[in-house]
Amino acid sequence: MPELPEVETVRRGLEPVMMGAVIARAEVRRAGLRWPFPERMAERLTGARVDRLRRRSKYILVDLSTGETLLIHLGMSGRMLISGTMLGKFHHEHPAPEKHDHVVLDIDSGARITFNDARRFGAMDLFPTGEGEAHPLLARLGPEPLGNAFNETHLVAALAGKNTPIKTALLDQHIVAGLGNIYVCEVLHRAGISPRRKAGRISSARAAALVPIIRDVLGEAIASGGSSLRDYRQASGELGYFQHGFRVYGREGASCTTPGCGGTIRRIVQSGRSSFYCPRCQR
Ligand SMILES: [Zn+2]
Repeated sequence: MPELPEVETVRRGLEPVMMGAVIARAEVRRAGLRWPFPERMAERLTGARVDRLRRRSKYILVDLSTGETLLIHLGMSGRMLISGTMLGKFHHEHPAPEKHDHVVLDIDSGARITFNDARRFGAMDLFPTGEGEAHPLLARLGPEPLGNAFNETHLVAALAGKNTPIKTALLDQHIVAGLGNIYVCEVLHRAGISPRRKAGRISSARAAALVPIIRDVLGEAIASGGSSLRDYRQASGELGYFQHGFRVYGREGASCTTPGCGGTIRRIVQSGRSSFYCPRCQR
């Protein structure tokens, strides 16, 4: 499932193709994905110029010259493919349409953006740009982990007195927006905090120390996504999926990478989701 760094990588990959360009033709091949598409979506997109590409949590927001914003959510399996233009070193011809290509945007430059989503948990919506954060998917989100509003004071206050495990608290989108299962596992390993520890039982100093760790872990992943835009992994024209060097995620039974630890990574299930951690150096 694409997490924040993957979504940011998709946004950065779309930017040079879409910024300032006009959507010459939009093709919508089904009535909706997770939810129905907005009415007359193809018509409302056709002829619009792209003024800005933003990201909020795991949503890509495309501000259009028509006064509307296109919201894109990749869901579980959404993929963005670029063809008809250079992507890094590679030029991609338009591929033959595939079964799960649901929305196709032809840009006036000749580039094509195809939204493919096999499991159909993705979403697209259009709303007036001015109403931005009032959109039901955006309204209740907490601060962006890489933004200024997410800081030590905010996180210490948000965790204080909480009886839930820290793993669950960091996945709570009101506390911090866009942090998902994989990166919470990585953050807690780097912080030396057990995912089972009650959020309210973590000292303010250790809670505050989570802020720069969260920024580092996401920042490093975004940086590897950025390099994937320039190298062979992008040879397919697909944005957003790249090679990761996770320290705990998916490494059950492997040795802990913390210098001198010697522990073995374990997997437990919390709130229905896998947590990977080292019981020796995460307390
Ligand atoms: Zn360890």
